[in-house]
Amino acid sequence: MKSKQALDRAIAEIHNRISALAANGCRGFNCSGQSLEKLEKWGQDPQIVSETLADIRTDLGDCQRCRLARGRNKIVFGDGNPKAKLVFVGEGPGFEEDQQGKPFVGAAGQLLTRIIEAINLTRSQVYICNIVKCRPPGNRNPEPDEINTCIPFLERQIAAIQPDFICALGTVAAQTLLRTTTPISRLRGRFHEYRGIRVLPTYHPAYLLRNPEKKRDVWEDMKMLMKEYRYED
Ligand code: URA
Repeated sequence: MKSKQALDRAIAEIHNRISALAANGCRGFNCSGQSLEKLEKWGQDPQIVSETLADIRTDLGDCQRCRLARGRNKIVFGDGNPKAKLVFVGEGPGFEEDQQGKPFVGAAGQLLTRIIEAINLTRSQVYICNIVKCRPPGNRNPEPDEINTCIPFLERQIAAIQPDFICALGTVAAQTLLRTTTPISRLRGRFHEYRGIRVLPTYHPAYLLRNPEKKRDVWEDMKMLMKEYRYED
């Protein structure tokens, strides 16, 4: 299991490096002496090897890559510890998030903050982001083409952070990361895997506001997450 995780990490790292090169305008290798020299320097020159969250934010720019750009107020890139061991991934910004440019700051966000504090962590210890970075009109679910356009940025954020755990909040986050159509009710309650990272899907806090009886399930999920999180310390 450990070696599979190491292999998956290595693949994620290669993906990260190629994405960083692509973001800097690289469109392929001609295997010239110069490019071979660059390849040899990988691992020694941090300028080449590592892409930071700030690099990814810069590449995102004033994104106009999909129709969500037209209706948004602010891009909600993500917030928290760039070296977080645990990343929470939601669906997409709502009204408050679009106003402030920060994830999970509305009513569902306040509940998420309480969930994080209930497991003895703070928002600044974890990283919080979404599948799409712009608010879908009327808080509708993001469309598949919008998700496909935005997801490379989330993938790069995850590769830059290298968390041990991802908590996928709700159907859209869980199904997108795990590339499945299985309902959240059947995905939650156990760990899955995304590029060597353990993923625990659970119900979205907005769903909990409408269905408070499901808080018990989320608490069970959080206890499971914390047990493994502490074990990794
Ligand atoms: N719901 C989400 O999925 N993400 C947010 O940032 C806020 C509400």
